[in-house]
Amino acid sequence: MKDKKLLMIPGPIEFTPEVLQAMGMPTTSHVDPDFIEVFGQAITRLREVFLAPNGQPFVIAGSGTLAMDIAATNLIEPGDEALVVNTGYFGDRFGMILERYGAIVTHVRAAVGDAPTLEDVESALQKGDFKLMTITHVDTSTAVCTDVKNLAALGRKHGILVVVDGVCAVAGEELHQEAWGIDLAFTASQKAVGTPPGLALAVAGPRALEAFQNRKTPVSNYYADWTQWLPIMQAYEARQPSYFGTPPVNLIWALNVSLQQILEEGMEARFARHHRISQAFKAAIKALGLGQVPVSGNLTAVTLTAPYFPSGVDRSVLAHIKKAGAALAGGLHPKIKAQYFRVGHMGAVNESDILATIGAIEYGLAQAGYKFEPGAGLAAAQAIFLK
Ligand SMILES: *Cc1c(COP(=O)(O)O)cnc(C)c1O
Repeated sequence: MKDKKLLMIPGPIEFTPEVLQAMGMPTTSHVDPDFIEVFGQAITRLREVFLAPNGQPFVIAGSGTLAMDIAATNLIEPGDEALVVNTGYFGDRFGMILERYGAIVTHVRAAVGDAPTLEDVESALQKGDFKLMTITHVDTSTAVCTDVKNLAALGRKHGILVVVDGVCAVAGEELHQEAWGIDLAFTASQKAVGTPPGLALAVAGPRALEAFQNRKTPVSNYYADWTQWLPIMQAYEARQPSYFGTPPVNLIWALNVSLQQILEEGMEARFARHHRISQAFKAAIKALGLGQVPVSGNLTAVTLTAPYFPSGVDRSVLAHIKKAGAALAGGLHPKIKAQYFRVGHMGAVNESDILATIGAIEYGLAQAGYKFEPGAGLAAAQAIFLK
């Protein structure tokens, strides 16, 4: 019997065979002409995936947290004010990183599972003299998706830089970086972009680069400094060899394959597929009688779902679910950590992955002694897929 478990967590995710094959190729030099071509293509394709035709992509070895570090260290000078639209764990983390580089941070918070309203954010913006605001597109600790389009419009109205943590969103949630006026957006390879962990991916718009170029103080982080990376990105895109730090050759090959697959599907089709898969999965969770962390339907992410355990069931159910074929994630938000779990459904995920995951959840719940009608979750998801 096959013993492969579906990896249905909010990153890393299931990768396509073509992406994994690129990971296993014999590694070349980072200045081999074949690799320079691939890196150049990947940089150009990132612009298309972020929908930022005038943006400057950065591909740097590291995780999503490095991308947050890159944003903060390049855009913040000591004493700058920053507003964090906080919907959970990753908003808290962004605040700490900004403070590390000398920012004076104001958080606009909401109850767990909720998001600050546009009015809350507007009134906070009026009270300070902010250089930038950060928005977590999908906070992976709550599965809350923020209204990035309208929040970014508020940032534009106040003339400040808009930074979007899209680590659990880019290439899954709808995002039009340039049309929405976002100055810097970033993600990490292992989330909806569909490449194994190890790459921080950021796209800076013209205003973000201008703010960086107009700094009065040097960037205090050596590795993350755009002064080092901007010439490297420009060189590879111009198909010229260049060196600052050795790029992870195989990961960049894999990234380029994944970006090609994303663009072949098309961004609009990809957003629509994520929406449909999420609807089906959430219908199943509801049919099984489980609640969700986001307090209302218009706050739910399409890249992941955060269901509460039903009463009498705790996180030990996750081992049963895994045995039945799907690896899921436990809770992350410190206030509710033990009460819920998280299911990632992004990237190359398809309808049969979703049905298999729901089947495994039903098996686990039955093992845990939870009373429900077997097949109810599957039927609810199937009803959406058959529409
Ligand atoms: C995963 C995640 C991060 C951190 O990424 P790492 O690769 O784990 O460092 C940051 N923000 C959000 C919204 C995330 O989902």
